[in-house]
Amino acid sequence: MAGEPQADCLFCKIVEGKVPATVVRETETTIAFRDINPQAPTHVLVIPKVHHPDAASLAAAEPTVIADILREAGEIAAEEGVADQGYRVVFNTGAGAGQTVFHAHLHVLGGRGLQWPPG
Ligand code: C5P
Repeated sequence: MAGEPQADCLFCKIVEGKVPATVVRETETTIAFRDINPQAPTHVLVIPKVHHPDAASLAAAEPTVIADILREAGEIAAEEGVADQGYRVVFNTGAGAGQTVFHAHLHVLGGRGLQWPPG
C-alpha cells in the first residue's frame, strides 16, 4: 500500500536502518544521504520516510513532505558550500528518464559546473 514500507525497496531499508548509508541530515519526514555513485563533488539524495514510487505520487499523497524535501535540499546546499555557485535538484521519474530506485528521491548535485541540457 502506498505510504507503507515495502519489503523489496532499498530506500525503505535505508529508512529502517537495515541498509547502511552515509546520512547527512534527518528530519521527522525525510532522510538525506550521500549517493554511493556520486556524479558531482556534492551528490546527496533526499528521500521521504514514507514509500511512494516517484515524486508525483508523493506530491499527490503528501504535499507537505515534498516541500520538506525541497527545503532540506536548500539546507544541504548551504551546508555543503555549493549554494552560492549554484546547484541542481533532480527527480528522475520513470525508467526512461534514468530512475532506478522506485522510492521517490531528490538528487542534490553541486560543486562543479553543470551543463544544460542535462542529457
Ligand atoms: O534517479 P535514480 O533512481 O537513478 O537514482 C538512484 C540513486 O541511488 C543512484 O544515483 C544510485 O547511485 C543511488 N544509490 C545509493 N545507494 C544505494 C543504491 C543506490 O546511493 N545503496
